[in-house]
Amino acid sequence: MKRTTGQNRDITREWRPATRAVRGGTWRSDWGETSEAIYVTSGYSYDDAETPAARFAGEQVGMTYSRTQNPSVQMLEERIALLEGAEACRVQASGMAAMTAAMLCQLSAGDHLVVARAAFGPTRWVTDNLLPRFGIEATAVDGRENEAWAAAIRPNTKVFFFETPANPTLDIIDIRGVCAIAKAHSITTVCDNAFATSALQRPLDLGADVVAYAATKLMEGQGRVLAGAVCGSADFINTKLLPFQRNTGPTLAPFNAWVVLKGLETMELRALKQAENALEVARFIEKRVPRTLFPGLPSHPQHNLAMSQMKMAGSIFSFEIAGGRKAAHALLNALELIDISNNVGDTKSLMTHPASTTHSSITPEVRAGMGVSEDMLRISVGLEDPADLIDDLDRALKTVGL
Ligand SMILES: *Cc1c(COP(=O)(O)O)cnc(C)c1O
Repeated sequence: MKRTTGQNRDITREWRPATRAVRGGTWRSDWGETSEAIYVTSGYSYDDAETPAARFAGEQVGMTYSRTQNPSVQMLEERIALLEGAEACRVQASGMAAMTAAMLCQLSAGDHLVVARAAFGPTRWVTDNLLPRFGIEATAVDGRENEAWAAAIRPNTKVFFFETPANPTLDIIDIRGVCAIAKAHSITTVCDNAFATSALQRPLDLGADVVAYAATKLMEGQGRVLAGAVCGSADFINTKLLPFQRNTGPTLAPFNAWVVLKGLETMELRALKQAENALEVARFIEKRVPRTLFPGLPSHPQHNLAMSQMKMAGSIFSFEIAGGRKAAHALLNALELIDISNNVGDTKSLMTHPASTTHSSITPEVRAGMGVSEDMLRISVGLEDPADLIDDLDRALKTVGL
């Protein structure tokens, strides 16, 4: 295996982002393949007994077992780290495996975590149900209020966890402000950057310590496989995350790693174009419904903050209609082009009713506290012609009297 370029030094860190996206982490076998190879193997063989001994002792770099490392997976980790501007990255089998690992790898019984209340449903299940079972307390705050983060700090607070923009309410967290509060108290910040990706928002540059991803979404980009990623300092990844991951096994399969690796090559193009399409669709929807939650629109209360930390506001947004679950389902059922799907970040536009799908595993009270109402619909805008999406929405809105 060898890198495609840079015989005498690692030149990948000198490359600009677009170059990193298509060439970062490419290691070629002796066959000289242009597309990265998929190494479907669980184990590795050695020329002599001393080699595995040296590798297990950490004295020699090399593969030992695919729960710990695999060449296709390593290529993906290198590429993501390069795109994120992180010292290191490890990938996991899903976004939730990444979120769970990012929390559990650094928390112990007696510790306390603060989480922004608006978050992906399963993330709140982990903070509200799983962590307390192991003696880790979690406090959910209105993440939009910097003072709420500061007020929630206790002597045993170890982690701040937030998602921005948040799913599905599109709350924006002031990354610079919240990370500065954390830093002053030696608290580690973890930012779930799935909705924006490194193409639109760079949390590490804004002060975050750890960036976690559902790579399933825009990174993979075409709705094929699940994957997760955690990026941070080499120290955090190697001393905290890696021992947890190696021994608990949320490993990403080589084929899935390869799919995401190829997705990253077009991520920036897709993220920018889908964000542009989303803005066009949101401008149309805003005129027709009582409430539109899209940080890219000046009507969003945190529009200025969003634009100060994001290149564009992303491709996913929510809106509220009147008439609750019945009307929301009727609108979805009237769609002819946009798919009814609870996934996001696909090239195909997808729509869902969060209260009855992605956020159904949390209690109605927690849901209400987050701002996820029965009137809410979420759309993930893809790469179709936005005029066709608008035609489809126009028709569907009329069926519910809007
Ligand atoms: C989808 C998603 C996750 C979970 O990712 P999976 O790959 O489905 O496990 C976590 N956070 C956010 C913001 C997401 O959108």
